[in-house]
Amino acid sequence: MKIETKCIQSGYEPKNGEPRVLPIAMSTTFKYDSVETVGNLFDLKEEGFFYTRLANPTVAAVESKIADLEGGTVAVMTSSGNSATMLAVLNICSSGDRILCASQIYGGTLNLFGVTLKKLGIETDFVDITNFDAVKKAIQPNTKLIFIETISNPATVVADITKLSEIAHSQNIPLMIDNTFATAIECRPLEYGADIVVYSSSKYLDGHAISLGGVVVDGGKFDWEKSGKFSCLVDEDPSYHGLSYTKAFKNSAYGIKLRVQLLRDMGPAPSPMNAFLLNVGLETLHLRVPRHGENAQKVAEFLQKDKNVKKVNYPGLKSSPDYENCKKYLNGWGSGVISIDLGSYEKAVKFTNGLKLIKIVVHVCDARTSVLHPASSTHRQLTKEQLIGAGISDGLVRISVGIENAQDIIDDLKQSLDNL
Ligand SMILES: *Cc1c(COP(=O)(O)O)cnc(C)c1O
Repeated sequence: MKIETKCIQSGYEPKNGEPRVLPIAMSTTFKYDSVETVGNLFDLKEEGFFYTRLANPTVAAVESKIADLEGGTVAVMTSSGNSATMLAVLNICSSGDRILCASQIYGGTLNLFGVTLKKLGIETDFVDITNFDAVKKAIQPNTKLIFIETISNPATVVADITKLSEIAHSQNIPLMIDNTFATAIECRPLEYGADIVVYSSSKYLDGHAISLGGVVVDGGKFDWEKSGKFSCLVDEDPSYHGLSYTKAFKNSAYGIKLRVQLLRDMGPAPSPMNAFLLNVGLETLHLRVPRHGENAQKVAEFLQKDKNVKKVNYPGLKSSPDYENCKKYLNGWGSGVISIDLGSYEKAVKFTNGLKLIKIVVHVCDARTSVLHPASSTHRQLTKEQLIGAGISDGLVRISVGIENAQDIIDDLKQSLDNL
């Protein structure tokens, strides 16, 4: 099936007389006829549902659709994007290990790695991923993964996925990539050498800003045994009678461990209701994402000509340093997110407050056009150095272009810019 068909058809195949639309299995628990079956489920000898913290039929259908969209072996849904990132990392890192993370990164990931995981003994080196020498130099013997975003939030830097995966693989570590802004419609990072894909499904995948969620997709290609650095996936797990994930589950070892060990023990499971809502969003993903890109391209070209706008960051612009990577990795679409520099904190605030149709929200990547001034909101806790690393100036405004009529969006931007 082509990607458009997968968006609609993958993951759920009703049997004779069953509901045509994916039903919501709003049940925490599942009934069995015998003690033996339940025992086998606990030992992972049989597949089936027994408790929604680990797996649920509605959630499983949506996971299967997303695995299919990305071309991975297993997808695991979580309650939010941040919990997906947390589990993705903790699945292969423990105290004493290091993460190499792009400095151009979502603020929530920056806090998770830089503050909370640090307290658990996992250190992160934040590095400019456009500087390959710096990336190579920053890898230490205990570095367990490279973490990047396909398109960074909010500076819209497009990662050179192939190059960075080559660097990771030369050190026998995986490349983990947050594909939230691009989605499988613009980019399937596994096809370019990435090993694990992470999502906040709260953004384009859902598309309506109605349900929080996250996903981790196992690409199934990384050789955990050969690497020699991931005993956690190879050695016996005493909580499953000495099972080795790589021996038992081969190219699904990473994804299955994440579910049966980390979701089991830490618990950020998604609600079946949210999985259902996400699935409704996914059915139109292939229509919405290109439309976001088309609108954003028009908006970016308009903004580039406005005298009040000092700089427009949008990968789809020919003048952008990310234009080549945009063509190579994103089919030439730059997603719906644009950031602009208005030169000062005061101008950025006045412009943001002056918008009418476009509303101030902390969210990005949904059907409605929205705006945010990161320096006074999402990124206000960051130090000056961290702000520079993330590509955020005082005058930076992030615009998430929706799927309204492009001219209506431009008219609103224009009236507020004209008042500066
Ligand atoms: C929003 C976001 C997250 C976190 O997702 P939540 O669902 O809000 O927890 C992670 N990465 C990126 C790129 C995001 O935009």
